[in-house]
Amino acid sequence: MSTLLQGKTALILGVANRWSIAYAIAQAFHREGARIILTYQGERQRATVEELGAEVGAVRILNCDVTKDAEIAAMAEALQAENTSLDVVMHSIAFANREDLSRPFVETSREGFALAHDVSAFSLVAVARATAPLMVNGGAILTLTYLGAVRVVENYNVMGVAKAALESCVRYLAHDLGAAKIRVNAISAGPIKTTSARGIKDFSKVLEGVSAVAPLKRNTDPAEVADAAVFLGSDLGRGVTGNVIYVDAGFQIMALSAG
Ligand code: NAP
Repeated sequence: MSTLLQGKTALILGVANRWSIAYAIAQAFHREGARIILTYQGERQRATVEELGAEVGAVRILNCDVTKDAEIAAMAEALQAENTSLDVVMHSIAFANREDLSRPFVETSREGFALAHDVSAFSLVAVARATAPLMVNGGAILTLTYLGAVRVVENYNVMGVAKAALESCVRYLAHDLGAAKIRVNAISAGPIKTTSARGIKDFSKVLEGVSAVAPLKRNTDPAEVADAAVFLGSDLGRGVTGNVIYVDAGFQIMALSAG
């Protein structure tokens, strides 16, 4: 067992099932010796997250729907009441209406635009504000983003615009929280088959296209994303803040491919 996160406590938001990228991250954090706290969204998810939490030795499991200020506050208050200090906060949450991921972007509704930005971008700000006071020794806040933030990826639509906002939030939060020795970074993961990804039209074609073109000639393994999160969450990443690190088999460097 390696110990890059020994003595650290990590709060991970966004484990829905064992295919969630957040679950791969929880496994890697556990491997590296972190104490793990998980959240779930609503009673419907509780049993699954408790079961997965047991597999990674989670010490606490809390309810938190990030669209509800009261639930974010209750989560932070519960940790405060138990004198829990945090070292790493992993935000692995996004949502957009399925219809906004299948019709042309120009037809995005006002409500769909607001919802995608609320859940997928603003929630990082709300979670950072609530948890920063618990990071008494400084720490690392991490989130997950996607290439659709900076390039047009067909069918990613409003989620790409929300990811652009998320990446900008990372930079502004890194600026605000740097004096408290809190680093804020994003990992831009290549496409991975998860429940959320299945909501994107023609996702399997994206996987095929990426593995054909990416320099490493394959898709991204969630364990690779998790190891980057270990780096950023550990002292190895101590000089890195406000960044977006690509873990995507190199796909983002490519323009045209002759193959
Ligand atoms: P996932 O397993 O479906 O995870 C998404 C998580 O967001 C779920 O746990 C979901 O909970 C949670 N969530 C949605 N609305 C929420 C809310 N209001 N409050 C609290 N939690 C909420 O899919 P994933 O692919 O691992 O996604 C994790 C992150 O990685 C997302 O930010 C995604 O955009 C990003 N990402 C994914 C890929 C990919 O190809 N899969 C690539 C790059 C980046 P419920 O299931 O309970 O709603």
